Amino acid sequence: MRNERNRRAAWLVAALAGALVAPGAARAQGGSCADCCKLPCIEARIWEANYMKGVYRNLAAIPGITQAAYEAREADAKQLSGAMSGMYLGANPACAWDTPDPKDTIAWRQRFQGTGFSISEEGGVETWDFTLKVDPTTCALTHPRGAEVLPTLTPCEGIGRATVAHEQKHIDDCLAHKKRGGGAITPAQNAQREVAGYQAELAMLEQLRRESAERCTKESCKTSQAQFDRAARLFNTDIKLLLAKGKKKPPSKSPLARGRRGG
Ligand SMILES: [Zn+2]
Repeated sequence: MRNERNRRAAWLVAALAGALVAPGAARAQGGSCADCCKLPCIEARIWEANYMKGVYRNLAAIPGITQAAYEAREADAKQLSGAMSGMYLGANPACAWDTPDPKDTIAWRQRFQGTGFSISEEGGVETWDFTLKVDPTTCALTHPRGAEVLPTLTPCEGIGRATVAHEQKHIDDCLAHKKRGGGAITPAQNAQREVAGYQAELAMLEQLRRESAERCTKESCKTSQAQFDRAARLFNTDIKLLLAKGKKKPPSKSPLARGRRGG
């Protein structure tokens, strides 16, 4: 548990490195994910979550893995998944995070007070840390306000809520462990908890994806059609396929097909 506190930092930082390249474009962040323009953003999160879940599943299968080996593999995986997400999203303004101007210290302070979030700058590159941390002793979030503010920063609020759901799973597991007597857990056991955390996150992200895809059957994403199409091509986003996965009725046609005909 002792690395629980910092484990999400690198991942989030890596994930954000790509997303935050986009300068202050038109933003509707913190709004609903039931918006066609948010589909690539949700897809990217799903990809990352699935990738990381696979990495942790592999780590969980190595009972004797040392803490050092675990951390090295985890850091590599987070860096890779963050870079992939950044490449995939490019400068899609719909998927930027709504972060305040770091030069505006008043706004920064007001919005981030008590969240535990922080920013650092090196060589003109801003690195944001929106990590939510679970205290292994109390099993509570170290900064509960962070969980309230995060959904107002993410490309749409559900993405932030999905991260909170991931942390909630850690809280539940921590409490259950405590009830059984507590004590230190091995890195492999910790990896198993991450698998469960990502599963909780993915369940929510997949629901968001269906809601977003459903909107795409009514209206395509006009404001960032180029990025949308690129994202769809790269991740084979197929609206029909996505909706067929859910319980809802499949749509009559894909907005991507409409786009190709010049709509
Ligand atoms: Zn986690």
